[in-house]
Amino acid sequence: MRDAEIIAVGSELLTHDKLDTNSLFVTEQLNTLGVEVRRKLVVGDDRVRLEAAIRHALGHADIVVLTGGLGPTEDDLTRDATAAALGRKLIFSEEICEWIAERFRKFNRTMAEINKRQAYLVEGAEPLPNPRGTAPGQWIVSGDRVIVMLPGPPGELKPLVVNEMIPRLQKMLPPLAIRTRFYRVAGMGESDLDALIAPVYTKVENPATTILAGMGDIQIHLRARAATAEEAERLLEQVAPQIEELLGDRLYSRNGDTLETVVGKMLRERGATLSVAESCTGGMIGERITNVAGSSDYFVGGFLTYSDEMKVRLLGVDPALIAERTAVSAEVARAMAEGARARTCSTYALSITGEAGPESATGIPAGTLFLGFASEAGSEARKINVPGDRNRVRMLGAQSALDFARKQIR
Ligand code: AMP
Ligand code: MG
Repeated sequence: MRDAEIIAVGSELLTHDKLDTNSLFVTEQLNTLGVEVRRKLVVGDDRVRLEAAIRHALGHADIVVLTGGLGPTEDDLTRDATAAALGRKLIFSEEICEWIAERFRKFNRTMAEINKRQAYLVEGAEPLPNPRGTAPGQWIVSGDRVIVMLPGPPGELKPLVVNEMIPRLQKMLPPLAIRTRFYRVAGMGESDLDALIAPVYTKVENPATTILAGMGDIQIHLRARAATAEEAERLLEQVAPQIEELLGDRLYSRNGDTLETVVGKMLRERGATLSVAESCTGGMIGERITNVAGSSDYFVGGFLTYSDEMKVRLLGVDPALIAERTAVSAEVARAMAEGARARTCSTYALSITGEAGPESATGIPAGTLFLGFASEAGSEARKINVPGDRNRVRMLGAQSALDFARKQIR
């Protein structure tokens, strides 16, 4: 009883510049009840195709949600197509017609004749009041299926979903508890990660595992569903500890926190401060750290030293060291971090220097980056090689630097 399909209706949704965002909102809301969207489609204002799509959905899903096509004009066909697909009549509702007329009067307008089309209900439907528009939604039960018709404008649809559709579904569905784990992993690729943990998660269907790979950042979602929260938690415990163990040090978050949030929490716990010295990332690390509310508790600031001269003048890097090793070197990365730490009096300092590409100024291959970290105990550097274009090199550089800081602080 928890499979849904969504049909977004409207020819404008088939053009190049109009996205079906309603289905994303509906999906999010359905998921809170443990209802899974198994299929969704966009159908233009086409009576035949729409009726066929509704029939097909009714043959496969327990819950069919239609959005759009409830307006007053000729091309608003959702009512007609739904009635036809169910083999039911459309019935004029005096009450809804009066409600629509009243709404027009409230805005000092008279209702046009065509608005009466919005007062038709599919036989047996319960109208869902739409305080923000003229077309009510409709809730239809057909055997063990539910069909919900919702208005297209997102500002009308959202309150109807939250206030009318979700509470009705909740009453109807057997209780279901969902428990999740939201892991985040840095420092490994998607295929390596999958090879590592697939032997564990493929053994079970519940919890369901999804892996989302971003740039230098992989998210793993585990979702367990059961009649009670305790049972869902027990199901999670059958796989979660094994996954955590396999990921080890690369697992940086168990609750979905970003890397900059995790690093921030570590600093706050230790009462420590951090400064940065950035070259090739041009401030991306500082930007990410300061994205976190409350980062002023631990982030003191940083240096954007793009040229060699600025590395010398602002951070006190020895020009002879740059001449000897070039600015893209472990030694300069360490000197940058040491300089930032000395000048800001921060507990720790993080630095990055490298060739973002596509050309190389130093003769060192593009994608070669050095990360530096300084603390009371001294300084450390790491070399990394990032394949890809300039954007990727810089993004992965910032990500790797934050991960380096995380490991060094711990
Ligand atoms: P309708 O209910 O079909 O008259 O739709 C009215 C308006 O709502 C359309 O012109 C769109 O701007 C908007 N709309 C309809 N369907 C969607 C959708 N699936 N996602 C986002 N906006 C939509
Ligand atoms: Mg439309």
